[in-house]
Amino acid sequence: MHSSPSVFASRIQRFRLPRVCVAVVGEDASNIIDRAESLVRDNLFMEFRLDYLAQPASALPKLKQFLDMHPEATVIATCRRAVNGGKFKGSASAQLDLLMKAAATGFQLVDIEFQSAEILKPSELAELKDRVGVILSFHDFKATKKLEETFAEMKRYPADFYKVVSTATTLYDNVQMMKFLQAHSAQHEMVGLCMGEQGIISRVLGVRAGSVFTFAAATRGEETAPGQVTAVELRDTYRIEIVDAATQVYGVAGDPVAHSLSPIMMNAAFRRETVNAVYLSLHAKTLKDLQACVPDIPIRGLSITMPYKQDIVEALSNSDALTRQIGACNTVVRSQDGKLYGFNTDVFGVVVPLEQRMTLQGAKILVIGAGGVARAAAFGLKNKGAEVFIINRTAEKGQALARQAKAKYLKRADVAKMNFDVIINATPLGMGANRQSPLEEKELNTKFLFDLVYVPAETKLVKMARARNIQIIPGLEMFVQQGARQFEIWSGKPAPIAEMSFVVTKALERLEPQPVEDQVPAPQAQPPAEEKPAPKPPAKLAAKAARKKTASSTVRKPAKKAAKKPVKR
Ligand code: NAP
Repeated sequence: MHSSPSVFASRIQRFRLPRVCVAVVGEDASNIIDRAESLVRDNLFMEFRLDYLAQPASALPKLKQFLDMHPEATVIATCRRAVNGGKFKGSASAQLDLLMKAAATGFQLVDIEFQSAEILKPSELAELKDRVGVILSFHDFKATKKLEETFAEMKRYPADFYKVVSTATTLYDNVQMMKFLQAHSAQHEMVGLCMGEQGIISRVLGVRAGSVFTFAAATRGEETAPGQVTAVELRDTYRIEIVDAATQVYGVAGDPVAHSLSPIMMNAAFRRETVNAVYLSLHAKTLKDLQACVPDIPIRGLSITMPYKQDIVEALSNSDALTRQIGACNTVVRSQDGKLYGFNTDVFGVVVPLEQRMTLQGAKILVIGAGGVARAAAFGLKNKGAEVFIINRTAEKGQALARQAKAKYLKRADVAKMNFDVIINATPLGMGANRQSPLEEKELNTKFLFDLVYVPAETKLVKMARARNIQIIPGLEMFVQQGARQFEIWSGKPAPIAEMSFVVTKALERLEPQPVEDQVPAPQAQPPAEEKPAPKPPAKLAAKAARKKTASSTVRKPAKKAAKKPVKR
């Protein structure tokens, strides 16, 4: 077996490579070059997916022009075979031939699958390695299993980097991947991550477990692997360039959580207050899976969302009075000794926006719903001296809550006859594509409407209330306030509410652009001092704005020369 003469060279490169390698795709050479040109200023480390090109070999001369023009960039040539999950239909020999040509073209690194290495002659692989830096890769598109066995096989072939990519079907798969990276990164240049929505932990934390770098998409819609996040998200939201052993890990756990705005909001808060922490989206299909990860990662704090707010209570060593009263927990703190403590900050989310507008003592408040959030509202508002009324689709549940919280249960027929200071919608009606309203216009006899649904901001209920000149309290305020309290519990610092409100308002606008005159401005949704407005959609503009940001931030740039040709020729 050929022994690697370029260990020294790749060791140097390890410390000079950026942590994020951006996958660039295009149908033809001009296409891929256009994309690369627009990305290279902020992304000095790229992977060209030659297998996405209709004619990879004939594209190489044009790609050479790009490589010659950008000696500052390190570019990987990947031409993954279709049998191994790529798009290249040729044989392993044809793949090798193309990668040899890519090396001659000026690519500094090539990615070749372990399965191709098994087919090729050792001398062919050795020749490739003599010409260019080799990443020997293995992808499991179904699961995370047999990492050690696979790597034992891969190690039989010399390579500058060993890349092992699996698919996370549980959160714990990320832990397996990170343990695997930790076990081998002292001896080998490792790259490892889990694909899939549940793999986000390894995409962000893999670098501190020993992965030399990780992969990112150029923009949303240009992903080359399931669960890939964009380079801008990795750098700006998750601050991957500064994640280190001391970085505390937090996250939102639930099922589903893919569309949660909590990572955007909480990471912005940590960044603003210079807390060395990262906040991840944890799609836990079972509570057991989540609990298994907490000590191993380790996780310092959790936002708990549906459907685990009640179930988590049993796992807590202790909790605050509100959690005990309501029977639901949305905030967990993990202490140094590993014990979990629970808090309920949904109450703050409901109470604080109201207290900013009125005295709650004696206020007449109708709560629609009897689920988790309605419970937080009912108990929280009663504790503040409000007169609370409840209606609910399932009368027995509403009556039970009214009894427990010492509120009054109302028949639906009585709602139109009454006047309230506030009506709170604590049902999902109006959410997403559901354009229903929990009340009719004639029932809206109130000064304020607090619709806890915040996607979309303009629900049918909000529109009806607006038509009756009722003051609207956007549901986003609850979201921000419950998150602000979580931040304070975890960090001990006052929450940067203006920043939190600003970033989620902008994120919502990107989700659902609205005409300016229809927007519901949250009181704090102003750009905080010293902060420029957030990038606008579409992705091109977002990338442009983010470029300016990262230019002055912590991104490490590889030294020009070292990045150019890391291995001997
Ligand atoms: P939950 O525990 O599932 O409770 C849902 C409540 O809505 C129940 O009382 C349920 O009535 C009622 N409901 C559901 N579908 C209905 C329908 N089609 N017609 C009439 N009533 C219906 O949910 P949750 O955790 O309390 O959350 C409720 C809503 O609050 C969420 O959907 C979300 O929009 C909003 N929320 C907002 C924030 C924020 O930060 N702004 C945070 C969390 C939640 P039954 O008892 O009859 O089933």
